[in-house]
Amino acid sequence: MSVANGRRILAMPGPTNIPDRVLQAMMRPAEELSSKTIVDLTDSLLADLKQVFRTTGETFIYAANGHGGWEAALTNVLSRGDKVLVLASGRFAIGWGEMAAFMGADVEILAGSWRAAVDPAAVEARLRADTGHAIKAVLMVQIDTASGVVNDVPAIRHALDAAGHPALFMVDGVASVGCMPFEMDEWGIDVAMSASQKGLMTSPGLAFVAANAKALAAHKRADMKTLYWDWSSRMNTLAYMKHCGTAPEHLLFGLRAAIDMILTEGLEAVWKRHSLLAGATHAAVTRWAEGQALTFNITEPLQRAPSVTPILVQGVDATLITDFARDICGVQLGLGIGDLTGKAFRIAHMGHVNAPTVLGTLGAVEMALQAKSVPHGSGGVDAAVAYLAGAVQ
Ligand SMILES: *Cc1c(COP(=O)(O)O)cnc(C)c1O
Repeated sequence: MSVANGRRILAMPGPTNIPDRVLQAMMRPAEELSSKTIVDLTDSLLADLKQVFRTTGETFIYAANGHGGWEAALTNVLSRGDKVLVLASGRFAIGWGEMAAFMGADVEILAGSWRAAVDPAAVEARLRADTGHAIKAVLMVQIDTASGVVNDVPAIRHALDAAGHPALFMVDGVASVGCMPFEMDEWGIDVAMSASQKGLMTSPGLAFVAANAKALAAHKRADMKTLYWDWSSRMNTLAYMKHCGTAPEHLLFGLRAAIDMILTEGLEAVWKRHSLLAGATHAAVTRWAEGQALTFNITEPLQRAPSVTPILVQGVDATLITDFARDICGVQLGLGIGDLTGKAFRIAHMGHVNAPTVLGTLGAVEMALQAKSVPHGSGGVDAAVAYLAGAVQ
């Protein structure tokens, strides 16, 4: 028997649940591509993305997924042969570095752990050793969606400053922007990027890049530029140029609704909601872990991401849990990827999520653990409820 019919929940780390209001906003005819509607829509989104990234720099919107955003960020500031330092803490910074290598950068990976955040002291030491300042950019992710770690962006900025290193500081916020504090200007991020389908609750297909004055100066010298991604052409006043062609109109209508929802709730309130729902998830997993078959991938509690929780499984096939949750309960969880392939499943608590979404997801996982006789400490959902009941007061 299945009890999956009814509204299904996406509890995987992207794409995430799209609010009805966002879906409805896309249900309209296309418009002439340089009509006032599209010009105003584009201008309002470019302006509001500055609020979301917390920057007074330039913002850009691309018809692309997160990988496109990575490429956009790189091509605009790098030249062939530039040395790039990638701070590993799971899968995603490495993926960004692979893209840089493909494009002709000389990529060095600063080794990291799959179970812990990037170590600022190691970054500082590596940069101090680069006395000739060969390294032109440092690439990192705020949240690694594969390992579930949250890196300390200001601490890494501090490491660059302590080493007196002029490299561009480039941060991937795909799994964190709209989920936790992201302070581009205050933290001295030179290039930030994100995408539509995670914390920003919109259909996959839009990538966002933000650049400060230092990044725009590097852009002038960069020789990896290609026309589609080019910032200079997109800073043109013509709407057509801002998108290098026809705007992805329906995605923009959807994004407009999503950003309206975020700004109405308040960015700080959105971050707080994520932190509470992550706390509830962590409370449940802590209880389940007493059975010795499940454990947090990230060992240090303060380094666990507020948007996604990867859980290692021992002696059990993780697909038993994810298949049950999907087929019997109607909840789509994520599986482990990269080094965690076959060893983990992931619970996302990212974007359009609230107490019932997350408690329902945790309930489905606990049902799966019981039904499949996976050893676990009982009362994970109780612990999540108790945590939230206390925390919302
Ligand atoms: C999902 C994700 C990406 C890639 O986004 P796509 O839209 O799948 O290309 C990049 N970085 C992080 C941190 C992500 O979570």
